[in-house]
Amino acid sequence: MGRFGKFLSGLAAVLGLLAASACGGSGGSGSSSAGYVHSGRTYQARNVVILVLDGPRQSEMWGDPTRACIPNLAALAPSGTLLSGFQTAHHTYTMAGHTAILTGVYQEYLNLSTNQHPDHAGIFQHFLQASGLDRNQAWIVSSKDTLALLGDTEDTAWRGKDQYQPSLWCGLDGQAFENGTDSATVAKAEAILSSDHPRLMLISLRQPDSAAHAGVWADYLAALKASDAHAAEIWNALQADPVYAGRTDLFITHDHGRHDGENFTQHGDDCAGCRHVALLALGPDIKAGVEISSGGELIDVAPTVAELLGLDLPDARGRLLSELLK
Ligand SMILES: [Zn+2]
Ligand SMILES: [Zn+2]
Repeated sequence: MGRFGKFLSGLAAVLGLLAASACGGSGGSGSSSAGYVHSGRTYQARNVVILVLDGPRQSEMWGDPTRACIPNLAALAPSGTLLSGFQTAHHTYTMAGHTAILTGVYQEYLNLSTNQHPDHAGIFQHFLQASGLDRNQAWIVSSKDTLALLGDTEDTAWRGKDQYQPSLWCGLDGQAFENGTDSATVAKAEAILSSDHPRLMLISLRQPDSAAHAGVWADYLAALKASDAHAAEIWNALQADPVYAGRTDLFITHDHGRHDGENFTQHGDDCAGCRHVALLALGPDIKAGVEISSGGELIDVAPTVAELLGLDLPDARGRLLSELLK
C-alpha cells in the first residue's frame, strides 16, 4: 500500500469511528456484532421486543402479593427490572396506550372509524429510516385488528412512506379485520421471529381486555393466566434462538388498566386502576433483581427503546428509563 493508500485507509478508519460514535451510527450495521451506540454508550442487545398485554388490572397482577395469575412473570421478574408503579397518564384506551408506547406521546382518539393513525412517527418509523433495513426487520403482530393503524402516522413528513412502515399482522388471520386469538398471534410472532429475525417487534395480546369486557370474573382471571404463559413462551423462544439469546431486550407492559372496585369490566377514565400499568424489562442491558414501586410512565417506553436501538426520537415527550439500564 502506498502513502496515499495508507492515508485513505486511515481516513476511512477515522470516518468509521466518527460514524460509530454518532447518534444511531451503528443502527444499520447488520454485520457488526457490536450492539447499538447511543449517547456514547454501547448496548448489548441487537433486538428489542415489546409485549403488550391488553388491559389487565394491577390488583390481579403485580399488586396481588401471591401473584397467583402471573406465576411465569413472577418467576422471570428476578432476572430483570420491574417498575410496579408504572402509570399511563392519559386516555386509558387501547389505541391511545399503544400510541404512547410507540411514539412517546399521549394523544386521544376520538373516533377510530376514521382510520386515524398516530400523530407522530414512532420507534418503528425512526428505526427503519435510520437503519435502512427492510420492512421485514420491524413487525407489529397483534390480536386486535385496529392496531394495524399503528403502522402509519398522520405526520405528513412520514405518512404513506412504505419503506418506513413496519410489517403488519393484525387481527383475524393478520388481515386487519376482526379480532384474532392470542394463541394465533403468539404462533405467528414466533414464526416471524424464526424466519425473518426482525430487530424490532411489537406483540399485542388482547385476551385480558376482551375477557374482562365480557364480564365473567373467572374468565378474566383465566385470561391473565393465559397471557402470563404466553409471555413466558415468547421469552423462552427468544432464549432458544441463537440470534436472539443474550442479544434481545424484552419489555412487557400494558396499554391501560381497569376501573377499581367492582367494575372490572370497563376502563377509560383517569381513576387509579385505569392509569396503573406495570413494566417488566428483561435482557442483557437490563438490571437484574430490581423492583421499583414508583416512577415511570407509558410515554417513557419509546425513548428507552429508541436509546437501546441507537435512535433519536425527537417528538417523544417521555424520558429515558435509566433506572432499569445497566
Ligand atoms: Zn377494552
Ligand atoms: Zn377507571
